[in-house]
Amino acid sequence: MPRSPRTADDPVENLLAPLIRRRRTAAGWSLLGWDSEPGVQLTIARGQSIILIELEPFDSTRDCYARTRLFNVCARRYFQGRAALAPEERRAVEAVVELVRGREGALPPMERSSSARAGLVREIEVSRLLIAEGAGHYYINPYVGCTIGCEFCYVAPRADMSRVLKGLPSLPWGRYVDVKVNAAEVLRREIRRHPAGIVRLSPILTDPYQPLERRYRITRRCLEVLADAGGFKPVILTRASRVCEDIELLRRFPAAAVGFSIPTDDDRVRQKFEPGADPVEERISVLRRCHEAGLKTFAVVQPMLPMDPERLADLLAPHIDAVRVDRMHEMPRARRLYEAAAMTDAAQDAFFERTGRRLRRAFESRGVRYDELDDLAGIVEG
Ligand code: SF4
Repeated sequence: MPRSPRTADDPVENLLAPLIRRRRTAAGWSLLGWDSEPGVQLTIARGQSIILIELEPFDSTRDCYARTRLFNVCARRYFQGRAALAPEERRAVEAVVELVRGREGALPPMERSSSARAGLVREIEVSRLLIAEGAGHYYINPYVGCTIGCEFCYVAPRADMSRVLKGLPSLPWGRYVDVKVNAAEVLRREIRRHPAGIVRLSPILTDPYQPLERRYRITRRCLEVLADAGGFKPVILTRASRVCEDIELLRRFPAAAVGFSIPTDDDRVRQKFEPGADPVEERISVLRRCHEAGLKTFAVVQPMLPMDPERLADLLAPHIDAVRVDRMHEMPRARRLYEAAAMTDAAQDAFFERTGRRLRRAFESRGVRYDELDDLAGIVEG
């Protein structure tokens, strides 16, 4: 199996070079972190304000904050709910957009290799792993790609853009995984330079417990490094019941959270929309085991699929501390699934609004904290 040290860091580092070199903008915003694997993303901060800026492939049909010649630029406040950007935050984003507009012409041609030299699974070595996304907040992607392969996965187009930057051939989402075989060693070096904090292992670019974890144990080895270092608090989000194999390891942390994405109570619906993921009952059973083991637990009902909201709340509430609810965001790619399942009513805005309201009422009335933030990191804070 070929090993490749290539990443998309070089062209992206060049694109954002003035910001990365200075770590600060003229208006006093500092660069907290940047990443080239889930497309291109960076977080900037000033005082309590943290803004996540994401560059996606140019697509005039999709909403975004601004467009450049090559990219859709998305921007939103981070860790602070869904409030609109304040004027000074908008100015900070505009400065980044102008930087990208002025430098994107120097990116290498966005052409990909036509060869199929990169197979389904590549073992790669990386030079960095721990990505800062806020003060004392980090994330880790042990893998790139996910063979669970949900068709609606929002990661797919961004990850594909990173493959273009690496010059890799096109492969359908779910058909490739890069395994970061030296992740634990890199992480061991990095945590000497970073204060302890919350570390997310969630589907930013991969599911940390996708099937290959059984063979490679990259996620487990990273968790072992963090546990040995002391003070770190992992927050895991997965669709794979395999996380239960690491419960004892997770108990070594001062606080650790395990969450499951569970978009419906009905496993027949699950089979139509995410056939590669574990059955709903298995996920709930592992949530119960994690909760009984003293770990913090949560559920992410996303994307809301056809369901009985009150039944789902009944099934989950005894085993979770918090819940987050969200709609389907990748409708153009997911529509085929709704049509095949003859469930197009559930693809309408009215369905998401109605189901979201019922879920909120159902969970809150059962004493489950309804979390508005998108990372759920608050579950291990304090
Ligand atoms: S399990 Fe998560 S990361 Fe993997 S394909 Fe499905 S939504 Fe994407």
